[in-house]
Amino acid sequence: MRKRIIAGNWKMNKTVDEALELAAAIKEGIKTGDKIDVVLCPPFTDVTAVALVIQNTRIGLGGQNLHWEEKGAFTGEISAAMLRSAGCEYVIIGHSERRQYFHETDETVNRKIKTALSAGLRPIVCVGETLKEREDNLTERVLETQVEGCLAGLTAGQAAEIILAYEPVWAIGTGVVATVEQAQAAHQYIRDLLFKLYDRTVADRVRIQYGGSMKPDNSGQLLAQPDIDGGLVGGASLDAQSFLDIIHS
Ligand code: PEP
Repeated sequence: MRKRIIAGNWKMNKTVDEALELAAAIKEGIKTGDKIDVVLCPPFTDVTAVALVIQNTRIGLGGQNLHWEEKGAFTGEISAAMLRSAGCEYVIIGHSERRQYFHETDETVNRKIKTALSAGLRPIVCVGETLKEREDNLTERVLETQVEGCLAGLTAGQAAEIILAYEPVWAIGTGVVATVEQAQAAHQYIRDLLFKLYDRTVADRVRIQYGGSMKPDNSGQLLAQPDIDGGLVGGASLDAQSFLDIIHS
């Protein structure tokens, strides 16, 4: 049985004071014990502050991006070791906003995954089709290309450490959520791909989160699907009560 994982992607929101307040409210409100993994992914400037709030709790901490190189002349970038030393266990890689606005590709995502794994970070790797691709019946082809490209060269042991997030681009921040059937079908397809690329152990072990306008009023149904193992939550993670409601659903 895969343990569910709910991660909040705060994107470019929350000053340090606001982040402290939000993290404290989430910490106070959580009632799940160790039944599910909960992860907060604040902006880099908030990571250390949030780490202090959630220390000695079961809440995990993640970055929203990293560079594939270990260190050096990459102004504005953050390394895996920096994230680790700031208390992160997870890192989001290849979010569609990074693919769209910062030209990330499956190849750069692949390099970042390898760097993250070598540093002991657990990657949350985002894949998903655009609206045009869905309308053109290309969803499965896009997912296949992304999953194969992102995981290229990874051993079964490495692949098993990854968390995948299926995030249809048309559902991110739009208020339009994938239907339960669309989401389950995409998750099952991704799991079948993992079986094809690796084996049953990897396919059964990798957790696949759904992301795209997940809210308290749709999370219960989505999370009840056999291949949906959690959520990567954007907008609704910025409000403690709605994030807690998703966690408790
Ligand atoms: C996200 O950014 O990963 C996301 C799913 O955003 P939202 O929940 O706002 O659609």
